[in-house]
Amino acid sequence: MTLSYTGGCACGAVRYDIAGEPVFCNDCQCRDCQRESGTGHGSHLTFLRSGVTVTGAVSRWDMTADSGHVKTRYFCPTCGSPVYMTFSAMPDVFTVRAASLDDPGRYKPQVVTYTARGWAWDHLDPALPKFEKMPRG
Ligand SMILES: [Zn+2]
Ligand SMILES: [Zn+2]
Repeated sequence: MTLSYTGGCACGAVRYDIAGEPVFCNDCQCRDCQRESGTGHGSHLTFLRSGVTVTGAVSRWDMTADSGHVKTRYFCPTCGSPVYMTFSAMPDVFTVRAASLDDPGRYKPQVVTYTARGWAWDHLDPALPKFEKMPRG
């Protein structure tokens, strides 16, 4: 039995608890992640939604990704922290922000996505596989 992944927003109003291990971990340099993070990339852990429990009220924003599918970004209405994302094309997955974890040290990036949008000043681990967009297209 592994420890669940717990975390939430900065003020503590939104909390999540996730059973199971992440299925995908990526640093994403797309413009959406840049705008939301305020820097060069977002860091994401993606889990199967079946293990997820969320408590607290969230605000949401639906946006259309490059793929044409809708991704929904959820954030705390009080402190504004981005907490998680869901995807219309992949209803079974649930993606959280690495820094929203109680222990962000558990994040182990596997790949870098959307390097086509990355900036020279945003240096990421040179050992990681890089994809110009999303590996599954
Ligand atoms: Zn908050
Ligand atoms: Zn992104």
